[in-house]
Amino acid sequence: YFISFEGLDGAGKTTQIDLFERWLASQGITYVRTREPGGTPLGLEIRRLLFQQPELTITPLAEAFLFQADRAQHFETLVLPALAEGKIVVSDRCFDSSIAYQGVGQGVGTELVTRLSLIATQGHAPDLTIFLDLDPALVQERTSLSNRERHEQSRFDRASEQFHNKLRQAFLELARTYPQRIKVVDATQTPEQIHQNIIALTQTHFRA
Ligand code: C5P
Ligand code: MG
Repeated sequence: YFISFEGLDGAGKTTQIDLFERWLASQGITYVRTREPGGTPLGLEIRRLLFQQPELTITPLAEAFLFQADRAQHFETLVLPALAEGKIVVSDRCFDSSIAYQGVGQGVGTELVTRLSLIATQGHAPDLTIFLDLDPALVQERTSLSNRERHEQSRFDRASEQFHNKLRQAFLELARTYPQRIKVVDATQTPEQIHQNIIALTQTHFRA
């Protein structure tokens, strides 16, 4: 199975994936943890292009293709082989991020980004997506409190609360469109409560 975690920056994805990883290990489940962008050597180079060269002009469409190039490499060389070996793959972000950030945020369009995503994944989609939902006002608070990679924010922190609200609405709209696949988790709870919710959702999802 392929499980993706989604959420705005600062929603707590890393913390929750850490806890989820520990839980999978405690269950004796073989898993691979990965991320988009950056799950492969090419992906790390793409990350450098995207986040470490603020002077480089990248059009929204070109940006969308860079994320898809990362994804194509990620699926072909890592995700699909791991799934074929029967492993659980846990990814920090997948194409719902592209739909929200490039499709809606950058205005490339959800239909086009969805189409490109399915080409990049060779038609595959996550079996389960956990969307950690948090009010952008609270996200900003958390983000400024933690020592995040500042350089990564140069291009992407179009920091207005309004912009992040738009992204949040895009994720919530995706969750309404794909209610079976995407589960919305209230990320205002304590990390342990959120973790317990995620375990319960996972167990229900894969038992059904
Ligand atoms: O989740 P991560 O920290 O790796 O994301 C790096 C940056 O790229 C974040 O600011 C995130 O909002 C942005 N991003 C994006 N489009 C994607 C995935 C991530 O703009 N498809
Ligand atoms: Mg992150």
